Amino acid sequence: MEVTATATHFDAIVLGAGQAGPPLAVELANAGHKVALVERKDFGGTCVNTGCIPTKTLLANARVAHMARRAGDYGVSTGSIVVDMKKVKARKDEVAGSSRDSVEKMLRTTPNCTVYTGHARFVADHAIEIDGQRLEGERIFINVGGRATIPRIDGLESVPYLTNSSMMDIDFVPEHLVIVGGSYVAIEFAQMYRRFGSRVTILQRGPRLVTREDEDVSKAMLDLLVDEQIDVRLDVDNIAVRSAGSDIHVEVATRDGKSAITASHLLLATGRMPNTDDLGLENTSIQRDEHGYVVVDDSLKTSATGVWALGDCNGRGAFTHTSYNDYEIIAANLLRGESRRVSDRIVTYAVFTDPPLARVGMTEADIRKANRRALVGTRPMTRVGRAHERGETRGFLKVLVDAETKLILGACFLGIEADEAIHCVTDVMYAQKPYTTITHAVHIHPTVSELIPTVFENLKPLEGA
Ligand SMILES: Cc1cc2nc3c(=O)[nH]c(=O)nc-3n(C[C@H](O)[C@H](O)[C@H](O)COP(=O)(O)OP(=O)(O)OC[C@H]3O[C@@H](n4cnc5c(N)ncnc54)[C@H](O)[C@@H]3O)c2cc1C
Repeated sequence: MEVTATATHFDAIVLGAGQAGPPLAVELANAGHKVALVERKDFGGTCVNTGCIPTKTLLANARVAHMARRAGDYGVSTGSIVVDMKKVKARKDEVAGSSRDSVEKMLRTTPNCTVYTGHARFVADHAIEIDGQRLEGERIFINVGGRATIPRIDGLESVPYLTNSSMMDIDFVPEHLVIVGGSYVAIEFAQMYRRFGSRVTILQRGPRLVTREDEDVSKAMLDLLVDEQIDVRLDVDNIAVRSAGSDIHVEVATRDGKSAITASHLLLATGRMPNTDDLGLENTSIQRDEHGYVVVDDSLKTSATGVWALGDCNGRGAFTHTSYNDYEIIAANLLRGESRRVSDRIVTYAVFTDPPLARVGMTEADIRKANRRALVGTRPMTRVGRAHERGETRGFLKVLVDAETKLILGACFLGIEADEAIHCVTDVMYAQKPYTTITHAVHIHPTVSELIPTVFENLKPLEGA
């Protein structure tokens, strides 16, 4: 490694204070390593500042507005419903802010850990620069995350638009929010702002929403949003925008023809890209793939010896829990001599619409593609007692099992408490036990989880598998 006289040398340099970098920096420092952590903007990264925590806080506010409107269904009178967006935003800022502050405080008070603020760029495999300062590290850990992609839309340069980041500054109810995109981020914002009182239109390029899910899930999501009077346009193949006074004129072409929408605000939610384009990787032997993700092996090592990549920037996960698990894998392997691997991880996530969608393992489509013989069990939420008691019966429970081994291949729960209930399936999958572990278990009455054994008791062959 090249060492210069002006460089400050560290055992480990962590780039980015997202979901993996801070716990790794602290664990390495506590183990006696001399650590530097560099953050260019907000401690806690996307999750804390512009992703999970603020959006889930806002969704909680939106649910209160929704339930207040439904209060009469429960025999409760509320009077008129007024959403004070300044207070809504203040609550979000408070929740996200305290999380951000605690990440920063933890890092700054950890002995052996030096925090640098600024944009880090590689100048060599083991050397970075921040505002003219050169740091060199025996080991470097890249945790730079990602940001919203900006799609090509005719006229976009001439109109103001929002992303998940700038949405965080909104302290009013947009009159008509047009959202480009139909995946997780798009639908969460759509339901949230509809419930705050905006008119909302979704423009989705494909023939269905949340295209990574099975078709029954896409259909249920569509019905859910349409029932809340969200205008969902599918199969959009061209969008053109131009300024129209203080509004935005949006022209949309679908296979049904052209139409025009007057939007007060335009939100782009078409996907994410890694923050690796401005990281100086061209000065290193660290390889990126064609989408800009840092290429890593199963233990998160990059193509440069002594350099690892964690979190969204490695393309091996796109969630807070996957980023955090990347930290756990690296810490276990480096500090405790274990040999944990990314491929041991089971895909799992939730979409925090109301009701939420929770997924673990394979979809039906994955199983058919893998040519596996499988069994499927389903139960509508209308047959879940707890859902009736709560007056929230949308959705369904679906489980998928290997026909020979009886091991669980996957599950998809759309319904109240789905984001919690899914974990009883997840843990059995990690334990590699057959589904009968669940059918023999006794669950608490009356809960959503209480019905999960019943879903596994009523399996039938999965068509086409
Ligand atoms: C709207 C939205 C909602 C979401 N909701 C959920 C959810 O409910 N559940 C869930 O699991 N996931 C959710 N996600 C995804 C989740 O936020 C990310 O997967 C997670 O934050 C990724 O963490 P990370 O550690 O990879 O990086 P990030 O959290 O993105 O952090 C990267 C950090 O690196 C810093 N950085 C970047 N480049 C440099 C540089 N050159 N020098 C110094 N610092 C740099 C950035 O400023 C940032 O602080 C959501 C995402 C969005 C956009």
